[in-house]
Amino acid sequence: MLAATWAVAASGDALPGAAVRVRDGVIADVGARADVVARAPGVPVTDLGDVVLAPGLIDLHCHLEWSIVGGVHSGADGFGAWLARLVGTPAPPGMFGPAAQLAALRSLQAGTTTVIDNGPTGAGVAALTASGQRGVVHHEAFGGDPADAASRAERVADAIAALDDAAGPRVAVGVSPHAPYSAGPALWNALAERLPEGTSWSTHIAESLDERASLRGEHGALGDALGRLGVAPAAWPDAAHGSSVRAMAAAGVLRPGLIAAHLVHVDEADVALLADHGVRAAHCPISNATLRCGRSPVEALRAAGVRVALGTDSPSSAGTYDVRAEARACLATHAAAGLHFTPAELLSLCTTEAAAALGRAHDLGAIAPGYRADLIAVRPRAEALPGDPCAAVLDAGSAVEAVWVDGECLLRDGVPTRLDAAAVEARAAEIRRAFC
Ligand SMILES: [Zn+2]
Repeated sequence: MLAATWAVAASGDALPGAAVRVRDGVIADVGARADVVARAPGVPVTDLGDVVLAPGLIDLHCHLEWSIVGGVHSGADGFGAWLARLVGTPAPPGMFGPAAQLAALRSLQAGTTTVIDNGPTGAGVAALTASGQRGVVHHEAFGGDPADAASRAERVADAIAALDDAAGPRVAVGVSPHAPYSAGPALWNALAERLPEGTSWSTHIAESLDERASLRGEHGALGDALGRLGVAPAAWPDAAHGSSVRAMAAAGVLRPGLIAAHLVHVDEADVALLADHGVRAAHCPISNATLRCGRSPVEALRAAGVRVALGTDSPSSAGTYDVRAEARACLATHAAAGLHFTPAELLSLCTTEAAAALGRAHDLGAIAPGYRADLIAVRPRAEALPGDPCAAVLDAGSAVEAVWVDGECLLRDGVPTRLDAAAVEARAAEIRRAFC
């Protein structure tokens, strides 16, 4: 049993003097310490002291394989030019595995218990299996030419099956047709034919104005990027207006549960289509700002019933897999547009709302009986006490002290229990030296 000065229970309610009892990886009880102890006499209590126990954080969109390229490619001249540089610079051989391990370490240190990853090789499977975090690793698919869609889909489906065999019990494997400019309708359909029902799908939609231009058939910066990848730009039958959402809806590829990252350049009609099709929004405010993409209208998405949660993208365009930093950026970005989030609402964007976006509202994202025991202990700055426990969890000065997944402690006193942090960092640093 864990006792703490505060616990953030369901819906952001803060319980003072709380205890959480865990049995077989599941939360069995939560409440005032005296009550929880009385209901389970004899169960030993670990008193964590002046920390906030909160639900483990969920990162709805990131790229674990790009952890090493932080600061390498400037985003100052916009999304398309940045992407052309990112994909046009050959990665050192063997980069993706160690990079994914470093990223898993960073996200664990930031209190992330569930990682929704997207990448070209699926190296996130081994990384998350090793770190013990929960996650879904989406293998990316690229290709705009209908002529080779079937063979490309075949290769990706085979890779997904192999990754699935290698994945630990907390890790699932999904698919990510990369974006509407880089993966065409034929590829989406060929993937749907080959992948089992229940496969998780993820993508990027309406991230930049470059994407709109590409959909209208202009070569532009994204044409350069795709050329460097050896990928034909995608053509959509109904895309003259440049709206990715409308083109994808018309082609029948928007599906319930699809995680769509960014959703910056969407209008009212797009938002209604996303809601109608059950698409989930991964909001990545730091990346959107770095790459000069603009502001995602999260208020319109939420008002229409689209589930919105936060994603960290990668250090190539954002931070270091710290979803709490995304929450602070979300607050700042939208405050400038006259929107306000309470600390509890902000925290929900990486807990309860994120769990709902994953279809896991029933067992992830909250400290409540029957939920998986994915927990974090965050120690607030001394001067922040007493204060709002939700604000303390998100505060840049708070320290993530401990992390549990399924009740297993993966980070204790800031030190990973499964990973050798020094070895992971040294390997990544060696590769970065070769790269930069
Ligand atoms: Zn992304």
